[in-house]
Amino acid sequence: MSAEADIVIIGAGAAGIGAARGLAGTGLSVTLLEALPRIGGRAWTQRATGMPLDMGCEWLHSADRNPWTGIAEELGFEVRRAPTVWNSQYRDLGFARADRAAAQAAFDRWTARIHQAPPPGDCAADLLAPEDARWTPYIQALSGFISGAFLEQISVRDYAAYDAAATDLNWRLPAGYGTLIAAHLPKGAALRLGVTVQSVSLAAGGVTLTTPEGTLRPRAVIVTVSTNVLAGDAIRWPQGLDPWRAAAVDLPLGRDEKLFLEILDDAPFAPDSHLLGDPLDATTATFNIRNFGWPVIECFLGADGARARSEAGEEAAFACAIDQLAALMGTDVRRHLRPLTASDWSGTPSIGGGYSHALPGRSDSRAALARPFEERLFFAGEATHRTDFSTAHGAYLSGLRAAGEAIAALGAA
Ligand SMILES: Cc1cc2nc3c(=O)[nH]c(=O)nc-3n(C[C@H](O)[C@H](O)[C@H](O)COP(=O)(O)OP(=O)(O)OC[C@H]3O[C@@H](n4cnc5c(N)ncnc54)[C@H](O)[C@@H]3O)c2cc1C
Repeated sequence: MSAEADIVIIGAGAAGIGAARGLAGTGLSVTLLEALPRIGGRAWTQRATGMPLDMGCEWLHSADRNPWTGIAEELGFEVRRAPTVWNSQYRDLGFARADRAAAQAAFDRWTARIHQAPPPGDCAADLLAPEDARWTPYIQALSGFISGAFLEQISVRDYAAYDAAATDLNWRLPAGYGTLIAAHLPKGAALRLGVTVQSVSLAAGGVTLTTPEGTLRPRAVIVTVSTNVLAGDAIRWPQGLDPWRAAAVDLPLGRDEKLFLEILDDAPFAPDSHLLGDPLDATTATFNIRNFGWPVIECFLGADGARARSEAGEEAAFACAIDQLAALMGTDVRRHLRPLTASDWSGTPSIGGGYSHALPGRSDSRAALARPFEERLFFAGEATHRTDFSTAHGAYLSGLRAAGEAIAALGAA
């Protein structure tokens, strides 16, 4: 393997692609190393029976200020600006209109307390109100979808920082968010797929990286691996990096997984409709039905619902999702559904979970994680963004930031 690059970027997800974009045209030579056999990381549009299915990121959150919206337009991708259907329930099945309003009001009250009455311990579960106890499982389920973890694991300050910065616009891309992100890799970028970095150490004038395919000695490295990878032992790091790894421990990945069911023949599912499996079960799945009119149901699982999916295995998870739909729609739906494909983010060694959340009292760890190390290691990745963490646009922006820091340190234009 060539050891010539000025800068190596570890990871070719949204952050790595952002870093490569930030370095393009500076005259610095750049190589991206990616452990997976594809680019995109948690941005991955998989084609199944001709349908582009987003296994990871799907929604352009804060779409009106999301840099991927403009990139999509520049590249000629259609952006679907329809409102979300998350708060609707197909034919009111299992979740009557009045109950939906009551559950949403309980969630809104909890959200208001996040901003108005942050608790001393910074733990989001401390803001659950006894008078709203009926909807605690519902609020926990939303926490699973939003953060990948239940409220006991969530920092109020961190959640509030995201919430205050986010806009209410969430748009989608019929061609897939993963397709867009992969298309934005700079043309001609030196990219090595299926290459896992095993160790990172400082060397005179630069950094030494070892991989099964050889050693590289760039002048600087941009690290974009997830917090679970950084905190784990798959990569050997310099000892001085312990504070960065401790910050990564404070920002674990939650659990979020998707299952896709193919709809066979003319089954009774309306296009772009939605069902919440069981509003009184914190581990419930939520179902997005016939996205863009395609014959598919996307089943989304968060927190312990996603954990159960990983532990039970794919077949059992599909059976459970179909059971939940049959309980709502009648047992006849079973013959209209076929398991298609499923994510396993937690079981993918180079990823390790869904997206990062700060543990109570640990929101400052995002800034701690984002600091450069010895002006030679620069840190990007969704977890390093102070407000737009857990998103593909936060990851992208963090890559641009880290590229700017590396350019300043290396003295290039
Ligand atoms: C189920 C799910 C749904 C989501 N939905 C949305 C959504 O709707 N909207 C949204 O904005 N975001 C969403 N996200 C979050 C979004 O996908 C991520 O925040 C973003 O893609 C993270 O990008 P990243 O570059 O920081 O990290 P990654 O995408 O994890 O990139 C890091 C890369 O580093 C590689 N790597 C790790 N270790 C090594 C090594 N040793 N050597 C070489 N390479 C290595 C990994 O393989 C990976 O490709 C979702 C995520 C999931 C899992």
